[in-house]
Amino acid sequence: MNAVNNIMQGMPADTSKYLTQISAHQLLRERELIHLVEINSSSLNPQGINAVGKWFEHKFSAISQTSERIHLPAWQRMGFDGEIQQQPLGDLWRFKQRPQAKYQILLTGHLDTVFPIDSAFNKAVQLDQMRLNAPGAADMKGGLLVMLAALECLENTPYAHQLGWTVILNPDEEIGSPQSANYLEHEAKQHDIGLIYEPALPDGNLAGERKGSGNFSCSVRGRAAHAGREPEKGRNAINKAAELILELAQLNGARRGLTLNTGMIQSGETTNKVPDLAVFKFNIRIEQPNDATWCKQRIEQLINKHNQTEGYNISLHGEFGRMPKIMDNCHHALYTLLQQCSQKLGTPLNWQATGGCCDGNNLSAAGLPNIDTLGVLGNFIHSHNEIIELPSLTDRAQLSALLLLYIAINGLPFSHQPSKPRG
Ligand SMILES: [Zn+2]
Repeated sequence: MNAVNNIMQGMPADTSKYLTQISAHQLLRERELIHLVEINSSSLNPQGINAVGKWFEHKFSAISQTSERIHLPAWQRMGFDGEIQQQPLGDLWRFKQRPQAKYQILLTGHLDTVFPIDSAFNKAVQLDQMRLNAPGAADMKGGLLVMLAALECLENTPYAHQLGWTVILNPDEEIGSPQSANYLEHEAKQHDIGLIYEPALPDGNLAGERKGSGNFSCSVRGRAAHAGREPEKGRNAINKAAELILELAQLNGARRGLTLNTGMIQSGETTNKVPDLAVFKFNIRIEQPNDATWCKQRIEQLINKHNQTEGYNISLHGEFGRMPKIMDNCHHALYTLLQQCSQKLGTPLNWQATGGCCDGNNLSAAGLPNIDTLGVLGNFIHSHNEIIELPSLTDRAQLSALLLLYIAINGLPFSHQPSKPRG
C-alpha cells in the first residue's frame, strides 16, 4: 500500500482528470482498430504495411516535431531452392518530440502481422461487447493504438516539457526485425527507457526475462541419380540432412535453457530419384548471450564434418538476431515503477520469464532498460483465434500515460547512466 501512496506523491492533483479523458475515446478506438486489422499487413506484404504505416503517420505527426518514413533494404533469406532471395519489406516510421528534453523515452511497435496476404483470417468478428476476434488485433495493432493514446494524453497535459520521446514503427518484427534492428539499436543508445507495445501475457502480466533467438536455414546439396539403375552414383541429400538434423537436436539442453527446433524441411520430387537438394530451417533459443557464439561454433563444426563427405556441399544462412533480455537493476526499477502505476489504477500486475522474444531483446542488448508487453490484453496470438480484450485499449493507455506522466514530473526510476550519449 505504501508503494501506491509513494507513487502518487508529488503528482499533480489533476493527473486523474487527464487519464479519465482517455476513456472518452474507447468507441472511436474500437472502430479504428477494426479498420486497421482488416488491412492485411503480413511481414511480406509491403503495400499493406505501408497503408497501416501511413494511417499512423497521420496520427503521430499531429503530436510530434519530426516525422520520417524510411525505406529499408530487402530482407535476404534462403529459399527452399537453396538460393538466397531478396524479399522487399515495408517502410519504417520514426517520430520525434522534444529530442533535447531531459528524459528521453523510446516507444516502439511493429506494423506487421504473421498472417499471409492470402490468409482466410482477414476480418474482425465481434464475439461480445468485450472481445474482438481479428488478425493482429492484440499483436499488435491494438498496442499501437494504446501507444498513440498514451502519447496524446501526455501531450495534452502541461507536464510534458521535461520528457522527450521517439516512436519507431517497424515493418519486420515478426520475422525477427532483420532490417530494422540497426535503427532500434541506434535509438536505444540515445534514450533512457524503452516502452514496447507487444500484447500482455494472457493473464495480463508482463514478460520479464526473455530468451535470445536465432533463425537458420541450411541447404544440403548431394548428387542426383536413378534410384534403381545406378543408386551408387547418387548422394542422397535427404539422408545427409537427416543425419545433420539429429546431431543438431543433440544441442538441446547442452547449455542451460538452450533449445533447438528444426521446424521446416523440403526436399525431393519422386521416390525413384536420389534427391540432390534438401533445405531445412531451425530456430535456437538461448538464455546466456555467450551461448550464441558457442552454438555457432558447434554448428560450424558439424557442417564442416559433413562437408568432408565426398559429393556433398552443405551451407548455412542465418544469425542470432536477438540476444537474451536479462532483468538487471535498471529493468527491475522500471518494472517496479510500472507495477506501482498499475496498482494505483486498481490492477495488480506482475511479470514472469518467457522463452518468447521481441524487440525488447534488441533494446536490452543495446543497454536500454525496457518493458516490452505494454500493449493490450488478449490471447491466442499468431492463430486464427486471436482475440483482444477491448477494454484494455483504454486501461493500458491509462497505464502508459500514468508512467509517462510520472517520469515527466519525477524523473527516471533509476539514476541516470552518465556514459549514455545524448541525441
Ligand atoms: Zn508482436
